[in-house]
Amino acid sequence: MNTTTVLVVEDDNSIRNLIGTTLKSHNYKFLVAPDGKSAILEASTHNPDVIFLDLGLPDMDGVDIIRKVRTWSNVPIIVISARTDDEDKIKALDAGADDYLTKPFSIVELLARLRVVERHLSSQPQSAVSTSVFVNGPLRIDYASNSVTLDDKELHLTPIEFRLLTLLSKNIGRVLTHNYITQQIWGSNMDNDIASLRVFMATLRKKLEKGSNVQFIQTHIGVGYRMLKVD
Ligand code: CA
Repeated sequence: MNTTTVLVVEDDNSIRNLIGTTLKSHNYKFLVAPDGKSAILEASTHNPDVIFLDLGLPDMDGVDIIRKVRTWSNVPIIVISARTDDEDKIKALDAGADDYLTKPFSIVELLARLRVVERHLSSQPQSAVSTSVFVNGPLRIDYASNSVTLDDKELHLTPIEFRLLTLLSKNIGRVLTHNYITQQIWGSNMDNDIASLRVFMATLRKKLEKGSNVQFIQTHIGVGYRMLKVD
């Protein structure tokens, strides 16, 4: 039996049932909530390990639910959104959601997202101890000495590339929005910053992938970037 409890917040019966059946057949424990009010009640009384949250609910905006839950909990929140509301997706990530699934999504995708946050949950105590060195597959970052190696070979990065890599690595598994990243790196989010971000991200990815043939950074077009966990 899986010990992870998932809260499924979705007003559409058929999607809610589909997710519920999937979780059940993979031995997850789960709770359901058809609206915002019961979502907050379930989240506060049962402390789920993960929340799947539909943004379009009858009584509340999903983004407001994220903000509310974030006042007392860091539970991973995976947003479920319709293809058309990119803007909402970005707002949700900025409000503290960890990831998103776009409708229509596949069961395989849903389970993959769930495994990513589960891995993150189980690795948290460890990462709290070793905060100065980060390891992800062949990639090793020593935050204190500003050095990065790939398969033990030194990787030369510009200061901005290093800061970008640090930011992504400290949020591994999470999609970071363009606005969030430019705010962290440059302290603003002008159109120019987003254009610069694209350029720096392209050079950073090239350096990372040239040395290893591993994809570390995933692009979410129109939304942002994420560092993938490499096994
Ligand atoms: Ca809905």
